[in-house]
Amino acid sequence: MPSIEYEGSCVCGQTSYTAFDLNDISYCHCEQCRKMTGHFMAASQVSRENIKIKGKIKWFYTHEGSRHGFCDNCGANMFWQNDSKPTISVTAGSIDDSKELGLGTIYLLKKKDVIIISTLTSLKVRAMATAK
Ligand SMILES: [Zn+2]
Ligand SMILES: [Zn+2]
Repeated sequence: MPSIEYEGSCVCGQTSYTAFDLNDISYCHCEQCRKMTGHFMAASQVSRENIKIKGKIKWFYTHEGSRHGFCDNCGANMFWQNDSKPTISVTAGSIDDSKELGLGTIYLLKKKDVIIISTLTSLKVRAMATAK
């Protein structure tokens, strides 16, 4: 299968990335993600060797080994990483053209436990027109 290239960027343009073969977009409604994003996290995971990041990132650890990355200038929420895994997640909103990435897993919060409610592979997230 050929590699699909994706570009991503923050609001001010200081932080950007080029990634190959992003996974489908997953959604997490856990308390940490709600507090971090203002509502819920929508992100796509990629192998760390398949992404090149430019710009200055401010990392914040929500707990040991788990960190969110923000553009150091505009504060855009760009990345999430579990240090024990060889992957990094890019926020769905930072992707310039999602090229119809599919819908991954949706995590909902129920009685303080994060549960996986469904994996919907038949639905597609429509590529959004970029403002450029
Ligand atoms: Zn920025
Ligand atoms: Zn979460």
